[in-house]
Amino acid sequence: MSLGIAVRHSACRRCTKCIRSCPTRAMRIFQGMVRVDDELCMGCGECIRVCPWKAIEVRQDSWDTIRKNQNLLLTADPSFYVQTGSSGRTGALQDSLTRLGFEDISDYISTAYDLAALAIGRQINERKPEELPLISTYCPAVLRLIQLNHPELIRHLVGVESPLEIGIDYWRNTTGRGESVALIAPCPAMSQLQSLPAGRVKSNFDHVVIIRQVIRTLISEGMAGNELPRSFERHGRWLMWALHGGETRHIAATMGRPLTSIVATGIRNVQDLLNELELGRLGCVEYLECRMCDQGCLGGVATSESRFMSLVRLQNLNINWTLNKEERERLLELYATDLWRFSAPIQALEQKSLSGDIQEAMTRLRKMNEIYTTLPGIDCGSCGHPSCRAMAEDLARGEGEITNCIFKLKERITDLSTQIFELCGKNPETPTSLREHEIDGREGVQE
Ligand code: SF4
Ligand code: SF4
Repeated sequence: MSLGIAVRHSACRRCTKCIRSCPTRAMRIFQGMVRVDDELCMGCGECIRVCPWKAIEVRQDSWDTIRKNQNLLLTADPSFYVQTGSSGRTGALQDSLTRLGFEDISDYISTAYDLAALAIGRQINERKPEELPLISTYCPAVLRLIQLNHPELIRHLVGVESPLEIGIDYWRNTTGRGESVALIAPCPAMSQLQSLPAGRVKSNFDHVVIIRQVIRTLISEGMAGNELPRSFERHGRWLMWALHGGETRHIAATMGRPLTSIVATGIRNVQDLLNELELGRLGCVEYLECRMCDQGCLGGVATSESRFMSLVRLQNLNINWTLNKEERERLLELYATDLWRFSAPIQALEQKSLSGDIQEAMTRLRKMNEIYTTLPGIDCGSCGHPSCRAMAEDLARGEGEITNCIFKLKERITDLSTQIFELCGKNPETPTSLREHEIDGREGVQE
């Protein structure tokens, strides 16, 4: 498995909606097929949302293969647990997975969420006011957006790993076991974690399957009921990370004081908030909880339930936000192990430059500007490029043809027809009569 999305070319109608909607301009139509630049794709799933023909999917491993593998552990994003209606029996979904042969390790995962919240709170407390706000690294799509489009904000990222990764490390360290692990993911960004881990060299996840796939299978086999984990009564805090504001509330609970945080969900809001931070307008704010999906991970493109229904379910939970003495002591021990810390740096990801050579890049930049001034500037996307500027940039790099633009094509056709018309007017008539003389063998005969 490689990155987060795959295009089913047989279903694609080349409507260009995905290309125009991509926030990082990672998509093009090339030789009649939608192509995705893996280096630019952040896994937000916007292309999946806008495709009217359902031609784009989240990449995943085969659920049938995963469920037949008895030597495999399964773990899930919290949004997995609020996908179907409640039957009033805590643990039914976990029982279903256990019946399929999967061991329940959600106790380790929920402790990892507590640990992540504690570690984030401590980092906020340790920073000088001018170094705040810190930005959550929980949503891998936001993290990648910052790496791609806002590299100067990398210093604001909180240096705490995904609790899903921490949980597996914690389970391995405690049990000494080393089985492969599959993640049940709500989106392409989490699916990408397996091949593009954030803040670590290698992910703990060997396989990824999407929430919708697992839930549908369980429902079709009559195995899905109330999906709250058995440990819910003790550890419900971690489930709230699926909902906007849940992470902030959890951090504040471990800090024992209110946290000045801004919660932004949805691409547009996240982009606006990051721009405001760049402009230095978020003076007294301590933390930014950003999620690419509306309402948080509940709104991930690979979930099966309406985000509004999942929201209602989570809001109705009676969460115990207070850590008891025993939990706090265990967390402090775990905190001292540095299990939560990034083990690899988060680096800026290079945007595709015009050329590695500065002189060549300057020449191409001039060419790009020249081409751009000749384009209509309406960003219709018919050329297969996300905007007129992107088209000019690609052409300056030598990728594509100017006649991919329908307006330039029309101009070219008009020019050619004018030329043909003019040439027709100049067409001499003599050769026809000459050839007739040759065929008749009456060369030189005068009438
Ligand atoms: S949105 Fe993209 S993948 Fe879907 S049909 Fe249109 S061009 Fe094809
Ligand atoms: S908000 Fe959650 S579901 Fe959406 S892209 Fe981010 S991690 Fe994935």
